[in-house]
Amino acid sequence: MKDEREIHLQGISLSKGIALGIPYFLPVIQEDDVPEFSIAKGDIDNEIARYRNALLFSRKDLETLQDHLILEGSSEAVTIIDTHIQMLEDPIITSQVEEKIRESNQNTESVFTSIITEYKRRFSKDTDPIFRQRFADVTDVTQRVLGHLIPERKTNMVHIPENSIIFSQEISPSDTAAAQVDYVMGIVTEVGGSTSHAALIAKAKGIPFVTGIEISKIQEYQNCFIIVDGFKGKLIINPRPETLAEYKKIIKKLITQEKRLEKESKLCAKTIDGEKVHVLANVGSAADLDMLMKYGAGGIGLVRTEYFLLQNRNFLLSEKLQYSMYKRCIEKAAGLPVVIRIFDLGGDKFPDLVYYKEKEVNPFLGCRGIRFLLKNQEILKIQFRAILRAAVHGDVQILLPLISDVREVLETKKILENVKKEMIAEEVEIREDIPIGCMMEVPSAVLTCDILAKECDFFSIGTNDLVQYTLAVDRANPAVHNLHDPFHPSMLRMIQMLVHESKVHNKKLSVCGEVAYKPLFIPLLLGLGILHFSCPPRYISLVKKIVRKCSLQETSQDAKEALQLSTSQQIYEFIRKKYGKVFPEEF
Ligand code: PEP
Ligand code: MG
Repeated sequence: MKDEREIHLQGISLSKGIALGIPYFLPVIQEDDVPEFSIAKGDIDNEIARYRNALLFSRKDLETLQDHLILEGSSEAVTIIDTHIQMLEDPIITSQVEEKIRESNQNTESVFTSIITEYKRRFSKDTDPIFRQRFADVTDVTQRVLGHLIPERKTNMVHIPENSIIFSQEISPSDTAAAQVDYVMGIVTEVGGSTSHAALIAKAKGIPFVTGIEISKIQEYQNCFIIVDGFKGKLIINPRPETLAEYKKIIKKLITQEKRLEKESKLCAKTIDGEKVHVLANVGSAADLDMLMKYGAGGIGLVRTEYFLLQNRNFLLSEKLQYSMYKRCIEKAAGLPVVIRIFDLGGDKFPDLVYYKEKEVNPFLGCRGIRFLLKNQEILKIQFRAILRAAVHGDVQILLPLISDVREVLETKKILENVKKEMIAEEVEIREDIPIGCMMEVPSAVLTCDILAKECDFFSIGTNDLVQYTLAVDRANPAVHNLHDPFHPSMLRMIQMLVHESKVHNKKLSVCGEVAYKPLFIPLLLGLGILHFSCPPRYISLVKKIVRKCSLQETSQDAKEALQLSTSQQIYEFIRKKYGKVFPEEF
């Protein structure tokens, strides 16, 4: 007999929100589904044409998908699809496939699958999370091409019924991108990391996403109603009428909240007691730039320049491409400040650029950020040239990633001065008085911020990494994701210290990590003395709204009390009790 009890399954949240719907299990083309047959000599050219057509149709799919995504404003997704187009057109794979079809007289789908399988086998031992992500992208592109070669087996996101909750072992970035928000209510997978491209896309599209659920357990609930709670990272199968009513109420609230926030984007961010707070945007793609005005950004607080490499690898070594992108940022900021962070490569970002460096066992503790740039100065010099030229058009500041020692700042400044001299000698128009800031994301930098303050003009706290390096918790490892906790007392103490030293040395201090838009963390930041925030464009209105509900005097008192507490739980509970009531809708 069918089990109709209400069942709760706990997973991990990758994208917030609530979804109600019926399960839809995504089919995948397995290696065994790929037919293998011989091709007559005279038909080889036709077979190669079939392969080229499959590539062409795949490219068309991806371009159509991008057009939809641009309309939806899902910037991360657009850039990820660009990488898929590049993979699709990889000349090495294409020529290998064509050669092997000619040599072996085998059909395209079997040759293509064997080459990709070999390619994956060689890289399967890599444990780096971003590398594994590239692996997922390869699988995704492979499935798309096979879908055109064996159409009867193709996964078709377009024909997914309304009110579906997608269930899959793993979901590809392009299937997530193709998910139509009117049909796909939520996503549930068995594996997936919080830095996975699929998770980024789901967040950008506002689709709730929970991972860590054993999919085989769901098969028996094929036709049952399911709730995906992307806030708590859980699934509720066969919800009781009371549970359902409760969730419907939450959904209604969320919809009203979003509409209100969009309308309020032009309102400024002043605390109840009149303190002006600056809320700027984190930018990582051209599409982010188009959202600045819509969400009322006070400028750009962080350009993650390394993200532009997702769209185009040539960006790394092209002064021209970089100059035009930085100029575009400056133009879109329309006179407001633009903080350009130089490439933060290494760690979990672009390990496939490893040809520049040694293979590392601990990449997060390795040649990342400023260390990578000081080792690869040709890259740094090109980037400085592009920034110095673009800076004549606006209020530009340069931010240095992963600073852990003042010598890095001194060395970088020396390189910058030399680049300036060279450009002046070449009679290139540049801005010379460009402020230099340090990311505060390594404990040694925080503990020596008084020393650093003498050598730089501003600080920006990168809490994502500061939590990682302070608590020794890998930010990309889902197994320890609950330990990546910004409410930890050590974080409050570090922020307090930074605020104090910035005041003493008269340096601007901002926060650009994820806590800058974590509702319950905002009163703590204000209370500790943070008045500059930077977050993804679509959260700016929310941050401003929360600021308007807080009083600086009161939050300062709260921060003092929180600093006396011993554990993250105590701090979180203390803030939740007080502010869960002040802004319950964001809670
Ligand atoms: C951070 O570490 O908080 C930060 C903003 O930088 P990123 O997330 O790009 O490492
Ligand atoms: Mg960082």
